[in-house]
Amino acid sequence: MCLFCKIAKKEIPSKVLFEEEDLLAFHDINPMAPIHVLVIPKQHIVGLGEAVAENAEVLGKLLVASRRVAEETGLVQSGFRVVVNNGPHAGQSVFHLHVHVLGGRPLAWPPG
Ligand code: 5GP
Ligand code: ZN
Repeated sequence: MCLFCKIAKKEIPSKVLFEEEDLLAFHDINPMAPIHVLVIPKQHIVGLGEAVAENAEVLGKLLVASRRVAEETGLVQSGFRVVVNNGPHAGQSVFHLHVHVLGGRPLAWPPG
C-alpha cells in the first residue's frame, strides 16, 4: 500500500506537527530547509495532476493547513514557500498528493 496512506494511518511513524480531520502535517524525513513540513490529505489522491473538481474542498484545506504550518513554525514574518511536485519533470517521488512547506532560510528562485 501507499507510503503516505500508511503515515496518515500511523502505521508508519512520522514527526507529526498537527492533525486535522482530513489531513496530516508532518516533518519531511530529508529536509531541504530548516523547516520542511509535508501536508497530506488522509484520502489517497495520486497528485495534483489527478485531482478533480470533487477534491476542491480538501485542496483548499491543504492550503489553509500550509498557512497553519507557517504560523506554528514561526515562518509567517520571514516567509515560506509552498510547493507541489507533480510528475517526472517536477521530481515527484511519492504518489500520494503532498504539499511541501519550506522556510527558515532564503529560498532561491527560480528553482533548479
Ligand atoms: P516529492 O519528491 O514526491 O515531491 O516529495 C516526497 C517527499 O517525501 C520527499 O521530500 C521525501 O524526503 C519525503 N519522504 C519520503 N519518504 C518519507 C517518509 O517515510 N517519511 C517522511 N516524513 N518523509 C518522507
Ligand atoms: Zn496514499
